[in-house]
Amino acid sequence: MNEPLPARSLILIIDDDEILHLMMHHILEREGFKVLYASSGIEGIETIKNQEPELVFLDVMMPEMDGFHCLQVIRAIPGMQLLPIVMLTGLDDNDSINHSFELGATDFIAKPINWPILPHRLRYLLRASSALNQLEKSEAELRTAQKIAHLGSWNWTVASDKMEWSDEVFNVLDVDSDDFQGRRLDLYKNLQSFDVDKLHELIENCVRNKQNFHLQLHIYRANGSDQIVLMRGEPLISGHHVTHVQGTVQDITDRHRVEEQIRFLSFYDPLTGLPNRKLFKEILGQAIAYCNRYKAILSALFISIDRFERINENLGTSVGDRVVKMFADRLVTHVRDCDYVAVNADPDAYELPVSKLGGNEFTVLLNHIHDTPDSVKVAKRIFQVMSEPFNIGEQEIFLGINVGIAVYPGDGTDEDSFIKNAEFAMSHAKQQGQDTYQFFNKSFNAAAVHKLSMENNLRHAIERNQLIVYYQPKINMQKKCVIGCEALLRWQHPEFGLVPPSEFIPIAEDSGLIIDISNWVLEAACKQMRLWRQQGLKPLVTAVNVSASQFRQSDFVAQIDKLLTRMDLAPKYLKLELTESILLGHIEDTLASLREFRALGVQISIDDFGTGYSSLAYLKKLPISELKIDRSFIQDIPYNEDDMAITTAILALAKSLSLEVVAEGVEHEEQAAFLMQQGCEIAQGFLYSKPVPAAEFVAFVEQFGGVVRQANKL
Ligand code: C2E
Ligand code: MG
Ligand code: MG
Repeated sequence: MNEPLPARSLILIIDDDEILHLMMHHILEREGFKVLYASSGIEGIETIKNQEPELVFLDVMMPEMDGFHCLQVIRAIPGMQLLPIVMLTGLDDNDSINHSFELGATDFIAKPINWPILPHRLRYLLRASSALNQLEKSEAELRTAQKIAHLGSWNWTVASDKMEWSDEVFNVLDVDSDDFQGRRLDLYKNLQSFDVDKLHELIENCVRNKQNFHLQLHIYRANGSDQIVLMRGEPLISGHHVTHVQGTVQDITDRHRVEEQIRFLSFYDPLTGLPNRKLFKEILGQAIAYCNRYKAILSALFISIDRFERINENLGTSVGDRVVKMFADRLVTHVRDCDYVAVNADPDAYELPVSKLGGNEFTVLLNHIHDTPDSVKVAKRIFQVMSEPFNIGEQEIFLGINVGIAVYPGDGTDEDSFIKNAEFAMSHAKQQGQDTYQFFNKSFNAAAVHKLSMENNLRHAIERNQLIVYYQPKINMQKKCVIGCEALLRWQHPEFGLVPPSEFIPIAEDSGLIIDISNWVLEAACKQMRLWRQQGLKPLVTAVNVSASQFRQSDFVAQIDKLLTRMDLAPKYLKLELTESILLGHIEDTLASLREFRALGVQISIDDFGTGYSSLAYLKKLPISELKIDRSFIQDIPYNEDDMAITTAILALAKSLSLEVVAEGVEHEEQAAFLMQQGCEIAQGFLYSKPVPAAEFVAFVEQFGGVVRQANKL
């Protein structure tokens, strides 16, 4: 392929001498230039505007407008400052030559023209002009880049104390260009005196020892804002001496803020503003080192808000967050006022001895206490302040807490084991009930390790086919028939044996495994229903227990709908058992979901009724079909008058709301008799059958008459 021919340079001659024009035209065209001609200044200016030549020859001596005037007009046209203009003058006309340069001429050629060198001269001028244009362009780009980057550059000549800098330096250092003296001192103009001292020392050192430097400076701008500037410098060496120091200044305020933010987020909890676990560990590490050196004692309180998830579930996470914040504030105020936080060797590190570890867990570090009972006093104080209600709007929220106490030396060898042991102590306190504290004890480890191993094992329970659903019949005591069943989950573990749900459901809930497990149960129960139908059994309403996080899934109703369609089951055969606490939270959303279930045809039952705090007025609003009286009210019938009164009241309430009632945990005939006498028809309990595997359940249903008769004889 042929290279495209370079565009021919366009040259304009402004001269009233036609002969000269002819000569130039002849020679320059032959050398590959394109030549335009104007016989007067006015005409030349027009041609420049219209044709934009790359170089102009301009005669000084012309009638009407002379070359000088014309030159001035051309230079005033925007964008024409760099256009090469070559003046044509008389040979010895020095004044004209000088005057031309003053007015901005690029070069001159004396008449008569030396024709052989003209093309060379012209090419040289064009090359120089193009280099100049390039330079101007890259300087403009550099200026823009510096402006965008808030970066300025400076150059200081050591010997003459001459300072030169780029435009952006004025802006970054907030120096007025009128105040600029072109000296090193200009760098110091807006700095604080201690920054001046440091910078001065660094520049001196750079000159003396040929060393680079960088320094962060604070600039307080005239407009009141403050700013962080990074100053860098490096020596320019000639021979053995530093002749110049050149450097940059950059406004890094934004970057600095982001870095601060990142630091904050990585060491502090944004909700409470308290140090997070990472920072707490660092602080603890220093405190432990101090204890080792000075044989001091320290103690950590690990505080957990009891059943905090309930607040999130029932009142929403924004209320939960506010409660945590209030709790943290109260804790900080309390601990700061507290005499038991000792004076420390490193006050900075111990500034905030309260640290939030998880959403609802806090630690308080008590430095070199005198004796372990000191930490009990602090714990008791914390119980006391936290027993006051937390007011969120109209609501008063009461929190229970548990405190685990670990003491160093003794309860752990490093930060990690120490925190872990305080946490073990806390979970042990939790088992003792609300508002209790517990010192760490080595035996806790075993229990905690067991719990952890349960959790790890539970993760594999589904894929290892260790989960089984048992079924327990719901019996109509009057009619003596099975009217439905409840699906109850079991975990058959090769090592732990048959683990009851009370042991593993809370672990599943804590670890988030509950969703997968719940889905598995629903699917298993539905499959079983389908199988029974295929085996020709009369369809029975099967109840499945639902956990809070499962119910809170935004698409829970849709999931159930899809499952029933997939399994080809009529919705009326599925019942969902929800506890009161699930129904109490997120009232609007709950109501909406319940209505959707009713529209779908899936029945809802309230499980463990009587243990929560449902109000009658609230119950009335809910589209539910069944109440299950909690086992705790049934178990002492007929000996406990209160329980009997409560049971009677619940039955009356249910009747007024036209709800079915199931008595849970019926174990004895007396209980069944009392319930029937009070108008309760349905019961579930060991009196009839324990929860059993599906096959046994079918056998039970088939033989039920016999079982009941046998029970009657007892
Ligand atoms: P629940 O839903 O109230 O289930 C009734 C519990 O009472 C069952 O315990 C059952 O075995 C027991 N029970 C029934 N009759 C009697 C009786 O006459 N005497 C005594 N002492 N107990 C009786 P289980 O199977 O250990 O389940 C305990 C709880 O675990 C259930 O209480 C339920 O809240 C939960 N759970 C069980 N399966 C699941 C499940 O698949 N998903 C969810 N989220 N929770 C489940
Ligand atoms: Mg249940
Ligand atoms: Mg129950």
